[in-house]
Amino acid sequence: MNDFHILSTLGTGTFGRVRLVKHRSDGSDTEPLALKCLKKSAIIKLKQIDHVKSEKKVLAIIDHPFIVNLKGYFQTPSHIYMLLDYACGGELFTLLRREGRFANDVALFFASEILLAFDYLHGMDIAYRDLKPENLLIDKEGHVKITDFGFAKVVKDKTYTLCGTPEYLAPEIIQSKGHNKNVDWWALGVLVFEMLAGYPPFYDDNPMGIYQKIMDGYYEFPPHIEPKARDLVKSFLCADRSLRLGFARNGAEEVKAHKWFRGVDWRMVMSRGINPPWVPKIRNLVDTQYFDRYAESQESHTMPTEDQQRHFVDF
Ligand code: AMP
Repeated sequence: MNDFHILSTLGTGTFGRVRLVKHRSDGSDTEPLALKCLKKSAIIKLKQIDHVKSEKKVLAIIDHPFIVNLKGYFQTPSHIYMLLDYACGGELFTLLRREGRFANDVALFFASEILLAFDYLHGMDIAYRDLKPENLLIDKEGHVKITDFGFAKVVKDKTYTLCGTPEYLAPEIIQSKGHNKNVDWWALGVLVFEMLAGYPPFYDDNPMGIYQKIMDGYYEFPPHIEPKARDLVKSFLCADRSLRLGFARNGAEEVKAHKWFRGVDWRMVMSRGINPPWVPKIRNLVDTQYFDRYAESQESHTMPTEDQQRHFVDF
């Protein structure tokens, strides 16, 4: 950690903070990085050791224009650190709440980039499992960077862990039936609805109410959403996985062929060649105006026991 200047906090997660940092040997014209700092004691307490290891393992093997890039990782007796490229535009969530809702072509732009990232991950048998606007960052050119791979997992058959965010959970996760990468297509349906409507399709003040609505499969489109978009959302929000859009072996191809995506030049999307609808206006490389302000904390450094440290030897 002594190699870095800590500039500010970008966000907080369950086990710690993500900080904007700069390597001491880098000049003023070098871009800062995001350092995800995770407290080992919290990881152990919440029994998330496997998820954290899996996050690093997955991030280390993937390389995609719309997924946050892991530059390095290290650990101290109290913490685990992951060094990521800094996405200076903030969360898609913030942009969406500021705009209220997105026009059809704006939602289409973001959905297209996410679809290509899912295509890539699923091709490697990786289910992402945590799609939501808070985990979609915007880079300096306005393109998507998917972050937070804490729930991402190599799944060839089925897996059973209850994870994700209530509003975005597929029925098979709620029912603990065993699930696979098809849950990402369900979540993409929820996201497209939320981008176009400004609120998610299944909403309630408490998680049990949300689960009930998801299981009932009841939601209503606001009148302005166009028919092709409705059809896409309906095809994703299908409780029967075998009928859900994206279920086919080459699921992403089936999704790309849907009429809402008609006219999308996928090669242009992949090459980051489509003009983003919004580009962050940063004043300098370390500008954090698109992130909330956080008081800098003096974090307690609870030290795991020697026995507990063994969990992290292969991190
Ligand atoms: P995470 O625990 O990975 O979900 O990160 C928590 C929050 O930190 C995110 O919601 C973002 O606001 C911020 N964050 C995480 N990674 C980055 C990054 N690479 N660049 C900028 N902000 C980030």
